[in-house]
Order: sequence, then structure tokens, then C-alpha cells
Amino acid sequence: MDKLNIYELYHHPIREYVIMEKSLDIYAYLLGPFWFCYKRMWTIGVGVLVASFIIISFIKGNLVVQMMLCAAVFLLCGFNFDFLYQRHLRNHGYKYIKMYSAPSLDQAVLDFNREFQQYSTECLNESELRKCPYCAETIKMDAIYCKHCQQSLIGR
Ligand SMILES: [Zn+2]
Repeated sequence: MDKLNIYELYHHPIREYVIMEKSLDIYAYLLGPFWFCYKRMWTIGVGVLVASFIIISFIKGNLVVQMMLCAAVFLLCGFNFDFLYQRHLRNHGYKYIKMYSAPSLDQAVLDFNREFQQYSTECLNESELRKCPYCAETIKMDAIYCKHCQQSLIGR
């Protein structure tokens, strides 16, 4: 059997769902502050970069200490990434939905889609649902915005 990873699902009322991998994010360790920038956490990413650059330029001449400092910065970034990314999502209006264990991210997304479709049809009557005129997915009658294809449904 494949090794199972833990994924956490977050949802934003207007934007898409986000699924984040809970287990060791190797990129956060390898790319440190650059990974934070890639994930649009500019304050932390740029802040750490500038701070490390200033400290490292102060101790010029001592390459070993500089290298050790760099390694420490990348380790700290990797170690704190999960926590900071969760906080970043919450601060940007994302809500935690649930946790999945799956062998891969694709599988987690599949599981989520299956479960979500079941959920949306179980919880709503037929009369409260309709088809999106653009992508033909099932959406709520009152939706002004399709959660599947992001088309505006105002006036449709
Ligand atoms: Zn649609």
C-alpha cells in the first residue's frame, strides 16, 4: 500500500478551495524564504530575505558563520512553514474544512470532489439546485458566481 500523506482542506467563500499538504514540505526547507514568496506570503518571505541579507553582510569575512546562518534561516523557514501558511490562509478569509489522508494530492482532490458533490446534493432539495449555464456543474439556485468555473451568473 502507498504511503498516506495528510492534507488539509481550506475554503474561501469566493475563491477556490485550497488543499495543503500537512506532512513535511521539503520545498519549504530547500527554498526557505523564496518558498514563502512563491506561496504569496510576501511579508514573511521578503522580510526574512532582507533581514538575513543585512545580518550576513555584517559578518562578512567569516564564510563558515555566514553559511551556518543561511542554513539556520532555511531550517527555521521549513520548520515553521505549515503553521505560518495556515495562519496566512485564515487571515485571508479561508476556513478550515477537514483533513484528508491520501497517497497523493490528486487523490485528495478527487476524494474531496466526490464528497463535496455528495454533500451539496444531500443537503439541498432539487428545487434549490440548478445547472451552471457555462460548465454544466450543479450549483445553488441563488448563486451569483459559479464555484466550479468562476463565471459570473448575474442575470443568468
Ligand atoms: Zn460553471
